[in-house]
Amino acid sequence: MTPAKRKITVLPGDGIGPEVVESALKVIEATNVAVEFEKCEAGARAFEKGIATGIPKETIDSIERTRVVLKGPLETPIGHGNRSANVTLRTLFETYGNIRPVRELPGVQTAFTGRKLDIVIVRENVEDLYAGIEYMQTPGVAEGLKLISREGCEKIIKLAFAFALAEGRKRVHCATKANIMKLTEGLLQHTFEEFAPRYPSVESKHILIDNCAHQLAMRPEQFDVIVTTNMNGDILSDLTSGLTGGLGFAPSANIGNDVSIFEAVHGSAPDIAGKNKANPTALILSAAMMLRHVGEGKAANDVEQAVLVTLESGIRTSDMIGVEKPATTTEFTQAVIANLGQHSKVSPPKDYRQIELPPAQLGVNAVPAESRRVTGLDVYIESDLNPSKLAAGLEQMLKPSPLKLQMITNRGAMVFPSNGRRVSLVDHFRCRFVLRDEAAVLADVEILALLGLLGARHRWMHVEKLQEFDGVPAFSKSQL
Ligand code: NAD
Repeated sequence: MTPAKRKITVLPGDGIGPEVVESALKVIEATNVAVEFEKCEAGARAFEKGIATGIPKETIDSIERTRVVLKGPLETPIGHGNRSANVTLRTLFETYGNIRPVRELPGVQTAFTGRKLDIVIVRENVEDLYAGIEYMQTPGVAEGLKLISREGCEKIIKLAFAFALAEGRKRVHCATKANIMKLTEGLLQHTFEEFAPRYPSVESKHILIDNCAHQLAMRPEQFDVIVTTNMNGDILSDLTSGLTGGLGFAPSANIGNDVSIFEAVHGSAPDIAGKNKANPTALILSAAMMLRHVGEGKAANDVEQAVLVTLESGIRTSDMIGVEKPATTTEFTQAVIANLGQHSKVSPPKDYRQIELPPAQLGVNAVPAESRRVTGLDVYIESDLNPSKLAAGLEQMLKPSPLKLQMITNRGAMVFPSNGRRVSLVDHFRCRFVLRDEAAVLADVEILALLGLLGARHRWMHVEKLQEFDGVPAFSKSQL
């Protein structure tokens, strides 16, 4: 009996999506691996049919069955639904890790040609500012919540090291802005420093994200794997794809707890859609990552090698610099298929293994603390009073309260007690109230009483408790 074929959900997507996806499918078929495709709808056509998420139920059902997706770019047309189909997919299947490898490719001229770049960004994909939790706190001041969890940090760091081991890579950098955002970005740095010693065969280094960007422009060859938070990773990975030839060559894998989605980094390129001009390399290389993920390592190597041989032979699509007679998408695909089984002269196959993914932790992942104490609260107030007047009124109001006013900040800068510096003010103040008795515990009933007093005098819109976990303050101090 012939073994059942591995099923894969395929989303052709929008714009150039169907062209480059078709190209990748033809290449996969030519490797003779035992896979079967379930083509499903998603994106613009689904929105037009009135499906507000852009992802029909049949598509979700297929992904739940196959757990592996090869996808083309999806558009979110303006005026249909209000959610990006990509975000829906990412959220539904919690694809927490985004792996974006780039490398120097033969015949793809860049400013770094000859420096043998081979860099992988492993980006946290569901938390951070990109969770999109935003508020207008006043008519003129917007807020976005940067939520970073210990669980999310642990997962992405384990993924980065598992990936490094699978590909025999030497070094993992963790890039953060922990010098400024000590609690959020710092959580990734600390978790990295805690877990890195478990992987003694891989060198580990922390680097500040701004220096990382500078170093990527100056000496990119020092980097191997870089693990980072969502927004930093988004920016860095576009930068690294630019270093090696641009969007047409950048593949990616979105790794989830039990569903993984493989796609090119580029979008639907409406300017060249339907013209048989698109460069299918990024999607073909994404398909190779997918083949490795499903245990078809030989086919994955064959596909990568066939792409390299094709580029070495001088066949190029029109997006590449200095091309006189560009190949069409179809011609490029045919060349890749014809080159299956051949090895690149400059970059022979590497001994990459399947990534051993960290097991999913289901249920609520709680981080315990032996002791907790609420020591005060920050209340955000909308006011057009100057800070000293605002403070005087608050101090007067607090006379019967166990709380005292410790400071007022405006967009992070201390404006009370005054340090004499001139600060341009907006009508949005953070007022920090702390217990007069430093050893006491602030009860909810006292917080509610304070809010009652405040609400009678000012517009307040946000409250944050000041907590201590195991005796350590769990909030940032003010910037001076
Ligand atoms: P884009 O990546 O589609 O195009 C940017 C430029 O790069 C265009 O000039 C395009 O012609 C060129 N380009 C991109 N891929 C190419 C390829 N394979 N071959 C040759 N040239 C290529 O970015 P955009 O114009 O900002 O976005 C267009 C649409 O795609 C938007 O609706 C956006 O929301 C969507 N998008 C989707 C995804 C995704 O599904 N993952 C990602 C990015 C953008």
